Amino acid sequence: MKGQFKTIFEPFKIKVVEPIRITSRSERQRYLQQAHYNLFLLSSDQVIIDLLTDSGTSAQSEAQWAGIMQGDESYAGSTSWKHFYETVKDLTGYPYVLPVHQGRGAESVLFEVLCRKGAKYFFSNTHFDTTRANIEYRGATAIDLPCEESQDLFSDAPFKGNIHLQELKKQVEKVGVDNVGAVILTLTNNSGGGQPVSFQNIQETAQFCKEKGIRFFIDACRIAENCYFIHTREEGFSHLSCWEIAQKIFSLADGCLVSAKKDFFGNIGGFLALKDEALAQECMQYLIITEGFLTYGGLAGRDLEAIAVGIREAFDMDYLRYRIRALQYFNEKLRAIGIPVVYPPGGHAVYIDAQKYLPHIPKEHFPGQSLCCALYIEGGIRAVEIGSVMFGKNAKHELVRLAFPRRAYTQAHVDYVIEVFSHINAIKEQLPGYRIVYQMPFLRHFTAHFEPIKG
Ligand SMILES: *Cc1c(COP(=O)(O)O)cnc(C)c1O
Repeated sequence: MKGQFKTIFEPFKIKVVEPIRITSRSERQRYLQQAHYNLFLLSSDQVIIDLLTDSGTSAQSEAQWAGIMQGDESYAGSTSWKHFYETVKDLTGYPYVLPVHQGRGAESVLFEVLCRKGAKYFFSNTHFDTTRANIEYRGATAIDLPCEESQDLFSDAPFKGNIHLQELKKQVEKVGVDNVGAVILTLTNNSGGGQPVSFQNIQETAQFCKEKGIRFFIDACRIAENCYFIHTREEGFSHLSCWEIAQKIFSLADGCLVSAKKDFFGNIGGFLALKDEALAQECMQYLIITEGFLTYGGLAGRDLEAIAVGIREAFDMDYLRYRIRALQYFNEKLRAIGIPVVYPPGGHAVYIDAQKYLPHIPKEHFPGQSLCCALYIEGGIRAVEIGSVMFGKNAKHELVRLAFPRRAYTQAHVDYVIEVFSHINAIKEQLPGYRIVYQMPFLRHFTAHFEPIKG
């Protein structure tokens, strides 16, 4: 810490404000009933604190808005593209940069090309759901190999996002090197609670892939947050900036897939960046067919500018210190009032074990959904269930995620959420389970209708 005092505050002042409409409990009861007890079906002006996702929800800086005004909308050779390209190249070192409309655009382009070459298996610490979908849609298999420490939700191991290296070696042996499309490390491990991956784990994975001639990519949506964890937790990195740590990580891989809607403060956008010219050429072919020309990839010039500025801001050490500390604060305060939060705090969200919190509701009656509905009715807070509603019988845990949009909420907003939780503590035995009364065959959580089970 540079200063004399310990308080870590939001390192920004507010220049533009977005009003929050305050609703009453009875209004919210009505809204929730009209939304069939599915928070995805609420209108955002019915929500007081929206913790549904950290994706595309960042507040943008004055420098980003200045860039937006200067966005060059020329079809080819736009100066905004040059700014975007130079920034990504400086960070990653990769000479080939393909802009895309968002992360899944990069996935679609890369996996299309790799699967056409005959890739059958992909391995990851954990594939994000769109990553898995883009692989499986093309007939290949996505296999998650999270490390052993990740199984215990409450232990405080520092790098629970790591890939299980022994298991990776075994699996590659089993399926045969020639059938492996790539190994992908997701930094931080989104589906695993925003837990970081250590530099050592990245380095050992890279080394193994190099020995075997397997392609190795980084899903770098939250690499700035991951680098802050490396900077503070891993020996030998405290003298390096997070930007420098990221450069070291990228130098070990063959390329990266990025949604700019996470760490890089974009409201939309992303990129695929690659080392290898031949692979890049093939990807560019497909990019032009599906996303757009090589210098905009489905984005407006103003988006390219906003992201170029956002990438540098994401690595600001004062910002990252505040960001990670804010998540710790949120996590520790909830823990102190007896809420079973997943530990240690991750980079972008707080996760709660709803089954442990509401033991009277069996998993068939969706304890996570029950907690989400209670958070909304009691406090107007929107969270997301990550359990049996989302994954059906494949759910390993009944979790609720409170994702924290970047630079959008203050400590008072967090304190309000904590107060709502203490109120729920007092009434939790009375919370009902839910049953699904309507659902679609795929991704049912977005559109399902529920009803409370009267006790
Ligand atoms: C969000 C996300 C993606 C997909 O990006 P979109 O911009 O939502 O298409 C891929 N990987 C990870 C780890 C993500 O968090």
